[in-house]
Amino acid sequence: MAQSRRLLLNVVSTLLMFQAMKRRRVDPIPMLLWCPECGARHLDEGEFATKPHHTHACQTCGMVWRPALVPTVGVMFLPGFRNLKPPTS
Ligand SMILES: [Zn+2]
Ligand SMILES: [Zn+2]
Repeated sequence: MAQSRRLLLNVVSTLLMFQAMKRRRVDPIPMLLWCPECGARHLDEGEFATKPHHTHACQTCGMVWRPALVPTVGVMFLPGFRNLKPPTS
């Protein structure tokens, strides 16, 4: 059964490769983004909030730009700066 053993090794190595790729996938960097063309606030909501993307499209004028070389996501508040409302105790 040398053939099925080789097949199993193939499957295992493929799975390991996929796992390594998943681990290497970086989370998008949260940024405060404004459209460079019209100045409209750019927020990535829904699907785009979690999907890393390089280029952003303005919802107001259609301008497409790339704020950084790495994947970014337009957020309302940067992490740690969401404390506009005091925490209720
Ligand atoms: Zn975007
Ligand atoms: Zn715009």
